[in-house]
Amino acid sequence: MSPRKNYPKNKRPQSAERESTPSNETTEEHPDGIYIVRKLTGSASNKPYRCPGCDQIIPMATPHIVAWLDYDEEGRRHWHSACWAKKNNRGPRTERTRNAPRY
Ligand SMILES: [Zn+2]
Repeated sequence: MSPRKNYPKNKRPQSAERESTPSNETTEEHPDGIYIVRKLTGSASNKPYRCPGCDQIIPMATPHIVAWLDYDEEGRRHWHSACWAKKNNRGPRTERTRNAPRY
Protein backbone atom coordinates (compact mmCIF):
# COMPACT_ATOMS: atom_id res chain seq x y z
CA MET A 1 0.00 0.00 0.00
CA SER A 2 1.19 3.40 -0.77
CA PRO A 3 -1.06 6.06 0.67
CA ARG A 4 -0.99 9.18 -1.36
CA LYS A 5 -0.86 12.49 0.26
CA ASN A 6 -2.73 14.89 -1.86
CA TYR A 7 -1.63 18.17 -0.57
CA PRO A 8 -3.03 21.03 -2.54
CA LYS A 9 -0.12 22.72 -4.13
CA ASN A 10 -0.09 26.36 -3.48
CA LYS A 11 2.41 27.59 -5.93
CA ARG A 12 3.65 30.90 -4.79
CA PRO A 13 5.66 33.07 -7.10
CA GLN A 14 9.09 33.74 -5.70
CA SER A 15 8.57 37.40 -6.27
CA ALA A 16 6.15 37.66 -3.38
CA GLU A 17 8.82 39.84 -1.84
CA ARG A 18 7.31 42.94 -3.36
CA GLU A 19 5.34 44.94 -0.93
CA SER A 20 1.90 45.79 -2.16
CA THR A 21 2.23 49.45 -2.94
CA PRO A 22 2.89 51.22 0.35
CA SER A 23 0.81 54.28 0.98
CA ASN A 24 3.84 56.55 0.88
CA GLU A 25 4.39 55.62 -2.76
CA THR A 26 2.89 57.61 -5.58
CA THR A 27 3.30 57.93 -9.31
CA GLU A 28 4.11 61.17 -11.04
CA GLU A 29 4.04 62.01 -14.67
CA HIS A 30 7.11 63.76 -16.01
CA PRO A 31 8.16 64.78 -19.48
CA ASP A 32 10.53 61.83 -19.56
CA GLY A 33 8.08 59.26 -18.28
CA ILE A 34 6.08 57.98 -15.36
CA TYR A 35 7.98 57.99 -12.12
CA ILE A 36 7.31 55.97 -9.04
CA VAL A 37 7.97 58.28 -6.12
CA ARG A 38 8.49 57.02 -2.62
CA LYS A 39 8.88 59.23 0.38
CA LEU A 40 11.37 57.97 2.90
CA THR A 41 11.57 59.09 6.47
CA GLY A 42 15.25 58.41 6.36
CA SER A 43 15.22 56.39 9.53
CA ALA A 44 15.77 53.21 7.57
CA SER A 45 18.64 54.49 5.51
CA ASN A 46 22.02 53.34 6.60
CA LYS A 47 24.19 55.00 4.04
CA PRO A 48 24.36 58.42 2.47
CA TYR A 49 23.13 58.86 -1.09
CA ARG A 50 24.06 61.42 -3.70
CA CYS A 51 21.20 63.51 -4.96
CA PRO A 52 21.21 63.80 -8.76
CA GLY A 53 19.46 67.16 -8.52
CA CYS A 54 22.20 69.09 -6.77
CA ASP A 55 25.00 66.54 -6.72
CA GLN A 56 25.21 66.76 -2.96
CA ILE A 57 25.18 63.97 -0.42
CA ILE A 58 21.93 63.28 1.37
CA PRO A 59 23.01 62.69 4.96
CA MET A 60 21.87 59.58 6.74
CA ALA A 61 18.53 59.66 8.55
CA THR A 62 17.31 62.55 6.44
CA PRO A 63 13.81 62.35 5.01
CA HIS A 64 14.07 62.28 1.26
CA ILE A 65 12.60 60.97 -1.96
CA VAL A 66 13.34 57.86 -3.94
CA ALA A 67 12.16 57.99 -7.51
CA TRP A 68 12.50 55.86 -10.57
CA LEU A 69 10.96 55.43 -13.97
CA ASP A 70 8.22 52.84 -13.80
CA TYR A 71 10.04 50.54 -16.20
CA ASP A 72 13.44 51.04 -14.62
CA GLU A 73 13.36 50.21 -10.96
CA GLU A 74 17.05 49.40 -11.08
CA GLY A 75 17.72 52.99 -11.96
CA ARG A 76 16.13 54.46 -8.89
CA ARG A 77 17.67 57.54 -7.39
CA HIS A 78 17.58 59.25 -4.05
CA TRP A 79 16.68 62.93 -4.10
CA HIS A 80 16.43 65.70 -1.58
CA SER A 81 12.73 66.43 -1.26
CA ALA A 82 13.40 70.01 -2.35
CA CYS A 83 15.43 68.95 -5.37
CA TRP A 84 12.74 66.57 -6.49
CA ALA A 85 10.19 69.34 -6.23
CA LYS A 86 12.46 71.57 -8.29
CA LYS A 87 12.77 68.89 -10.95
CA ASN A 88 9.01 68.98 -11.24
CA ASN A 89 8.94 72.68 -11.85
CA ARG A 90 12.02 72.98 -13.93
CA GLY A 91 11.48 74.49 -17.31
CA PRO A 92 13.30 73.38 -20.41
CA ARG A 93 17.01 73.92 -19.94
CA THR A 94 17.16 77.20 -18.11
CA GLU A 95 19.76 75.85 -15.79
CA ARG A 96 23.01 77.06 -17.24
CA THR A 97 23.63 80.62 -18.19
CA ARG A 98 26.14 81.40 -20.84
CA ASN A 99 27.46 84.62 -19.49
CA ALA A 100 30.36 83.24 -17.51
CA PRO A 101 33.13 85.83 -17.37
CA ARG A 102 36.04 85.29 -19.71
CA TYR A 103 39.52 85.62 -18.47
ZN1 LIG B 1 19.64 67.65 -3.79
